Amino acid sequence: MKAEDIQPWVFRVEPYQGESLSHFLGRFRRANELTPTGLGKAAGLGGAVARWEKFRFNPPPSRQQLEALAIVVGVEADRLEQMLPPAGVGMKMEPIRLCAACYAESPCHKIEWQLKVTQGCKQHQLRLLSECPNCGARFKVPALWVDGWCQRCFLAFGGMMKSQKGISIILK
Ligand SMILES: [Zn+2]
Ligand SMILES: [Zn+2]
Repeated sequence: MKAEDIQPWVFRVEPYQGESLSHFLGRFRRANELTPTGLGKAAGLGGAVARWEKFRFNPPPSRQQLEALAIVVGVEADRLEQMLPPAGVGMKMEPIRLCAACYAESPCHKIEWQLKVTQGCKQHQLRLLSECPNCGARFKVPALWVDGWCQRCFLAFGGMMKSQKGISIILK
């Protein structure tokens, strides 16, 4: 499949700084009214898109797969790679974590929050949330973050900031 074949129907979605692949894929799919299966088919990736949206990176996306996806979504493979955990860095599939202060500034889920080494948000010096501070619901996979609020009690993600505890040790 060539880029020219695809472009007429594609509505491009600009990635946010630090955005995770799951969150980006969800936004792209909704902008283009595609299911995970539909996008997988369009990119010739089969079920991989659905797996990636759940952060199932075993096996990790290959260069070839990222290039196939790049053609469809109109974002370069190198940029897509930045939405993945860096090579050799472990990540947690769950719980899905959130820095509400980051979300208030830039409404996306960041891949950094899922890394095992991440203790909190360096920028805001805050601990990450792993559930809604109001009702205790776990966050959905970021591909399903449509409205930017808790799916159970509708508290806006940005509004959860006041429940984030500070980090006593300065993170570098
Ligand atoms: Zn933050
Ligand atoms: Zn809630």
